[in-house]
Amino acid sequence: MDLQHWLGRATEAIQEWADGFGPYEPHPSLHVDDDRFAAAFQEFTGRLGDNYPFFHPHYAGQMLKPPHPAAVVGYLTAMLINPNNHALDGGPATARMEREVVAQLAAMFGYDTHLGHLTTSGTIANLEALFVARELHPGRGIAYSADAHYTHGRMCHVLGIKGHPVPTDEHGRMDLDALEDILRGGEVGTVVLTTGTTGLGAVDPVHRALALRERYGVRLHVDAAYGGFFTLLAGAEGPEGIPAEPWRAIARCDSVVIDPHKHGLQPYGCGAVLFRDPEVGRFYLHDSPYTYFTSSELHLGEISLECSRAGASAAALWLTFRLLPPTPAGLGRVLAAGRSAALRWSDLITASEALELYQRPELDIVSYFPRVEPATLSGIDAASARILAEGMADADPVFLSTLRADRDAFTTRHPRADADSDGARVLRSVLMKPESEHHVEHLHARVEELARAVSGASSRARVLRAQ
Ligand SMILES: *Cc1c(COP(=O)(O)O)cnc(C)c1O
Repeated sequence: MDLQHWLGRATEAIQEWADGFGPYEPHPSLHVDDDRFAAAFQEFTGRLGDNYPFFHPHYAGQMLKPPHPAAVVGYLTAMLINPNNHALDGGPATARMEREVVAQLAAMFGYDTHLGHLTTSGTIANLEALFVARELHPGRGIAYSADAHYTHGRMCHVLGIKGHPVPTDEHGRMDLDALEDILRGGEVGTVVLTTGTTGLGAVDPVHRALALRERYGVRLHVDAAYGGFFTLLAGAEGPEGIPAEPWRAIARCDSVVIDPHKHGLQPYGCGAVLFRDPEVGRFYLHDSPYTYFTSSELHLGEISLECSRAGASAAALWLTFRLLPPTPAGLGRVLAAGRSAALRWSDLITASEALELYQRPELDIVSYFPRVEPATLSGIDAASARILAEGMADADPVFLSTLRADRDAFTTRHPRADADSDGARVLRSVLMKPESEHHVEHLHARVEELARAVSGASSRARVLRAQ
């Protein structure tokens, strides 16, 4: 699709709609002439140059990429009206679109009933799930894995409830024996399972946790902010397929969070929270004398903690889902490409003499580090940091990110490493752009070159020191 053409059509379509309401005089206080705008715009676009090229396949760092052009056009077109999805009075069309996309997300997870809405972010979506958890189990805490997103601990603090971090196993998944030890204490009311940790993409064993819910009377919340759309690859044939059990089990959990602004091709901010039991809407009851008046239908603001929210976010997601629906044949193909890139790259790293895999990717995050002699944590840490910096500064740049692994996490995976410090940074690449599929060979060759240069430089330095 031709983005320029459709951006032009967006302004025309809204102008046609606006013309139906009759002419009026714009106020001179808002007037900006084209010359002044041109100067400001030039400065503005110049300032925006100070960014990393998230769109480019040579950017293989954090969880970042531009939205799909369909989402851009959907967002911009609706933004020209600027509906507020707090209430049907603020944006009836986009509120209905929000209901529809939320129903599509619920269907994707296999929820047969649901209550849910979009949020500004995964953090707010998780806050809502933990808030409902607290209302249902007052005085009891929340357990989440030590590798869960850092905001769970923070939101427990906000909600005044105790957080219980649970150790992870050698794959970065929640250790369910350790969880059960904590549950025996009777202090925990809700367990957060992460399907796709932000650092390594590890998937907690949701299916095995179901039995603990019955045994200890806890709620189960799934944080699928990053990983949620991978449910489209659950049980798929071929190498990109992933084990189905944890994903199918989400349908039986009490709530789930997903971020369409990560793998759903959306601009920030677009998160979503879904509850399986619509009855939890009662915890949101509030009286607002000035917001709800044109309809007795449920307003989205009556079931969300936030008040104003961009109707444009719902519009963008709705338009995207019309074209690339959350099905294996739609968005699933986009995720499959990134996953296949991650598998391919991890095979290349496994065969490499310059690099070593930190752990095998479960989804689309590749973690690796340079081989250095001697293999000390401090040496690995310094070499990873240099590869990151030199990769970005190079004339043919590659953009990576780092992840800090603590000593235990590192040596459980690599027992031969010399643990001379309390941890090490390793390199991390989130391959969330389908284009990565055709660029891993190049990425790998570049990172190998950087690793050789860095380890060559450090062995020369050692020789010099020894002399
Ligand atoms: C990104 C992420 C969050 C936080 O979501 P934001 O949209 O960045 O606020 C929470 N949990 C997981 C697993 C994430 O990956």
